[in-house]
Amino acid sequence: MGDVKGFLRVKREKSEYRPVCERVKDFSEVNLVPKEKHSVEQASRCMDCGTPFCHWGCPIGNYIPEWNDAVFHKHWKKAFDLLNATNNLPEITGRICPAPCEYSCVLGINDDPVTVRDDELAVIEYAFKKGFIKAHPPKKRTGKSIAVVGSGPAGIAAADQLNKAGHNVTVFERDNKIGGILRYGIPDFKLEKSILDRRINVLKKEGIVFKTGINISTNYKAEKLRKKFDAVCIACGSRAPRDLKAEGRELRGIYFAMDYLIQSNLRIEGQKFSKDRLIDAKGKKVVVIGGGDTGADCVGVAHRQGAICVTQIEIMPKPSACRTNDYPWPKYPMLLKTSTSHEEGGERDWSVLTKKFSGQAGELKKISCVRVEFQKDSKGCPTMKEKAGSEFEIEADLVILALGFLHPEKTGIIEELKLDLDSRGNVKTDADFMTSQKGIFAAGDMRRGQSLVVWAISEGRKAAHNIDKFLMGSSCLSDI
Ligand SMILES: Cc1cc2nc3c(=O)[nH]c(=O)nc-3n(C[C@H](O)[C@H](O)[C@H](O)COP(=O)(O)OP(=O)(O)OC[C@H]3O[C@@H](n4cnc5c(N)ncnc54)[C@H](O)[C@@H]3O)c2cc1C
Ligand code: SF4
Repeated sequence: MGDVKGFLRVKREKSEYRPVCERVKDFSEVNLVPKEKHSVEQASRCMDCGTPFCHWGCPIGNYIPEWNDAVFHKHWKKAFDLLNATNNLPEITGRICPAPCEYSCVLGINDDPVTVRDDELAVIEYAFKKGFIKAHPPKKRTGKSIAVVGSGPAGIAAADQLNKAGHNVTVFERDNKIGGILRYGIPDFKLEKSILDRRINVLKKEGIVFKTGINISTNYKAEKLRKKFDAVCIACGSRAPRDLKAEGRELRGIYFAMDYLIQSNLRIEGQKFSKDRLIDAKGKKVVVIGGGDTGADCVGVAHRQGAICVTQIEIMPKPSACRTNDYPWPKYPMLLKTSTSHEEGGERDWSVLTKKFSGQAGELKKISCVRVEFQKDSKGCPTMKEKAGSEFEIEADLVILALGFLHPEKTGIIEELKLDLDSRGNVKTDADFMTSQKGIFAAGDMRRGQSLVVWAISEGRKAAHNIDKFLMGSSCLSDI
């Protein structure tokens, strides 16, 4: 602990964002990398707790007190080595992780928590700037080969770990570029794609082979992969979207969030879309249905595309702005979140049920809604009731459905390999991440259900540890 009085002397201060009036005009990153002086001061607030709950809150067990101390002393290389030991993509989590560690920070009990995520970003960006990050191909190869299917954060983390252990790793990706949702879901204003390319280039130099445009099971059979490689890790995400089966759903102008976000990302990459395929908010009244993070990303994209107005509605009640008894410290709480996209404008409304979509000549024009309230039944389970007389309409010519994801796509690999599923429809594995088929492992959203980048990294790392153990009898790779 560098400064014993740091937490008393210094107030929490988040790093800066670009001003709203400037950033809504482009898709460049909103987040600014913290300045060195700022990070040193903020890191001084870390109390180096005897039981660091931040560490407990972080799915990959980042050495948070240790690297905060190193930042305070400006020992940037040490901070980087500590960060690098547990996280394969700190430049990503440093930008977009909701930071469960901060919600469990001990300082958060009676003060504002340490700015762990900002400090992480400062460390990794400093490391790239100073050239600490160089390709380190393994000194010895084991002769074992592993196929990783899917190049989202789970696939990347698994491939990185397995390559470090000396295995020959090939990543197969059906998209034309690597990254999964990091590339084709999360908008550039949260994560510029050059950040991803920078990491992929290092991994390529370290010996990982990336093969894009290959849809396993469709244009390359999974069975063939199984025969060719000593082990397979599938990390194909959880992409079956939840639909809203209301009257008028077939009208033109209603799209799933991922279709909207993927197209927006492809357009930023330079791809052109014909008028009949284009999903664009310019000059439109946009309603985003679903109050979560994906919905917030759609709000930000719609503003940048020039929507006339953007409304985001959510069926659940407005969450509390501060912790309730249901979510005591150090639990990750369900709180009202105001993302950078919400700061940029638009309306938000809660406890709203969408009843019907209406249109003219096949084109969406408005949605009919009603307010709902939640009560507990005799067993204590919440039940939803429509509020009589609370019906209202919202004009809309573009509706984005951001209602979450149900489970992985069940056709393709799952079907071909006849993989067992769990009760939620995700790929079932044993405690060692092996699916019902020997030698086939699963990781990430495909196994866990839609989650967070940091959980995908954790899954990839754990799967890699178990694959290494399966192939070699034991493993030196971390199992956290
Ligand atoms: C819009 C959106 C915004 C999000 N924002 C955040 C955020 O800000 N912070 C956060 O922590 N989390 C966020 N998440 C969640 C996070 O992105 C996911 O939890 C994470 O990407 C899951 O990683 P994954 O590797 O399991 O799967 P994915 O990222 O979904 O990657 C799976 C990959 O597998 C490929 N694939 C699938 N099938 C095949 C096949 N048959 N052959 C070859 N390749 C295949 C896919 O093309 C894809 O590239 C967001 C999610 C969405 C949808
Ligand atoms: S819980 Fe907070 S104050 Fe304690 S070690 Fe972790 S980051 Fe520092």
